[in-house]
Amino acid sequence: MGPALTYHAALSPVFALRGDVVLADIDPDTRGLDPKALQAVLTEHTKVITVVHQWGHPCDMDAILRIAERHGLRVLEDCSHAHGSRYKGRPVGTFGDAAVFSLQANKAVYAGEGGILVTSDPQVHDRATLLGHYRDRSRDAVLDEDLRAHWVTGFGLKLRMSPFNAIVARHALAAFPARKEARHRCLRHFGERLGDVTYLEPVHIADHVDMGAWYGYKPLYRPEALGGVPRSVLIEALRAEGMEVGAPSSPRLSTLPLYARPENPLFPGTPKKGITPETGSHAEHVERHALSLPTFTNWPDDTKLIDQYAEAFHKIGRHREALVRYAADPSR
Ligand SMILES: *Cc1c(COP(=O)(O)O)cnc(C)c1O
Repeated sequence: MGPALTYHAALSPVFALRGDVVLADIDPDTRGLDPKALQAVLTEHTKVITVVHQWGHPCDMDAILRIAERHGLRVLEDCSHAHGSRYKGRPVGTFGDAAVFSLQANKAVYAGEGGILVTSDPQVHDRATLLGHYRDRSRDAVLDEDLRAHWVTGFGLKLRMSPFNAIVARHALAAFPARKEARHRCLRHFGERLGDVTYLEPVHIADHVDMGAWYGYKPLYRPEALGGVPRSVLIEALRAEGMEVGAPSSPRLSTLPLYARPENPLFPGTPKKGITPETGSHAEHVERHALSLPTFTNWPDDTKLIDQYAEAFHKIGRHREALVRYAADPSR
């Protein structure tokens, strides 16, 4: 089971294992799994809780681990947004039975394509090694003697990333601490400059959290504070000011055919539960109201640009009435 609003690839691979996905609502502050919602959708069939530390903000791991322990469930962390994030001082990726970090080209540490799996469970380590590698790597790395008997074939697949991409990742990792620090400074400045924009809900960051890579900056729009102007019109106005602003591109997973339809397309004839979209959920509210803003990485060079973005938001606030009239009749 996993969060209702996240990047699909955190959960979609379950269908390739003929598994089924159950979705739970998100916490509007962390944007990750809401532990109370998670508790409500657990069944005796639930095996794994997948958490995604969305945009870099760690999930409420204390509560989620308590639930996992009480019900004997495995926890998988998707840290693809959260390279370098910490929860109560401890790095994400160290809480679950296993954790994955995508190193795809857009991520804060990137290889081009590729990724990392970390685990402290020797069984997970051995089985993941045999799933991804046949021959030498499995012969040299698999700890369990009985499992190592499979080293010539692995489990029949080879899923390793290209070594050339791994070299790129090593360089990106070396550059990451400076990149992280610059991004934090940029976004702290941006957050301060946007603080008095009444039609934006500030991005909530808990005190016990270090946002690490800060993969996205997605404040929520409050249309009631801007005369009810639709988000699409606000985005149009910001773009007219030259701003690269949009609506986040990932919809709720329940709206995607892979999740919603009652048959698994990879294994025709295999039924699955099929998910009905949750209306009135936090996931729906965030999907409808979030704005996708740039994250900036050059400090202090980007300050001028950040100030221009903030000024565009302020300008729109000052011209609220004109925007309300335009929204009522865009042809005027
Ligand atoms: C990018 C991303 C993935 C997919 O990673 P790939 O390396 O492209 O397969 C999975 N989960 C999240 C949260 C992501 O952001």
